Amino acid sequence: MSSSLKIVGLGPGDSALLTPQAQKAIADADVIVGYTLYVDLVPEALKEGKEIISTGMMGEITRCEKAIEVALSGKDTAVVCSGDPGIYAMSGLVYELAEKHLDTLEIEVIAGIPALSASSALLGAPLMHDFAVISLSDLLTEWDVIEKRLKAAAEADFVIVLYNPKSKRRDWQLGKALEIVGTVRSADTPVGLVKSAYRKEQKTLVFSLNSFDIDEVDMLSTIIIGNSTTRMIGEKIVTPRGYLKKYRK
Ligand code: SAH
Repeated sequence: MSSSLKIVGLGPGDSALLTPQAQKAIADADVIVGYTLYVDLVPEALKEGKEIISTGMMGEITRCEKAIEVALSGKDTAVVCSGDPGIYAMSGLVYELAEKHLDTLEIEVIAGIPALSASSALLGAPLMHDFAVISLSDLLTEWDVIEKRLKAAAEADFVIVLYNPKSKRRDWQLGKALEIVGTVRSADTPVGLVKSAYRKEQKTLVFSLNSFDIDEVDMLSTIIIGNSTTRMIGEKIVTPRGYLKKYRK
């Protein structure tokens, strides 16, 4: 018998950004497993009549192990994550933990709209050219490595997207990251901050690199730092792709 385990991306929050494929995966599941705050993002109608294992206190490993165990017992299982499940989320860990069950367990990743796309849309068009995404969480990655990546991305003139910029216990990393980028990028580089994209508390702010207000940043914030060509068009941040420079001389 083969069981089905789907790792479903819920998008940034608003159910309008939950894809039909994700809705179907949840509707088809017998059991929904997820961190409490993610289960809360699933529309009530999709949760009706389902077994829900919401894991407030459980760590990521326990949560994934639980989902694998439930799926192996024969119940179609959906693990839910915010954004995309393959971006700083659960799908990699599920594959790692389920490696020995691949004969009996059918694992599928259902893409979701990640915070970087949602935030880019709200800010304008900052990601029109090459960009690097860096998580400032040093819980699983050494700070030295994060610093090296920040320097390399800044020097190579990538637009830089920062995930996990701050939490209650991690408050100094963002200041340090902005300082590193500031050594190579000009003080007036546009920097966008999106808080709680596509949720009730949504807030979008634009700063220049030297006036960025770290106090505005919370756990549900994504930050996009422009490259050397990024500029403001009206209220929006735009990184030119290069069309006008090449075709309209
Ligand atoms: N899998 C998620 C990322 C989870 S890591 C995705 O694909 O987007 C958690 C980080 O994602 C947060 O610290 C924040 O940087 C970002 N994030 C998640 N949801 C967000 C939202 N609604 N608005 C802004 N940033 C968000």
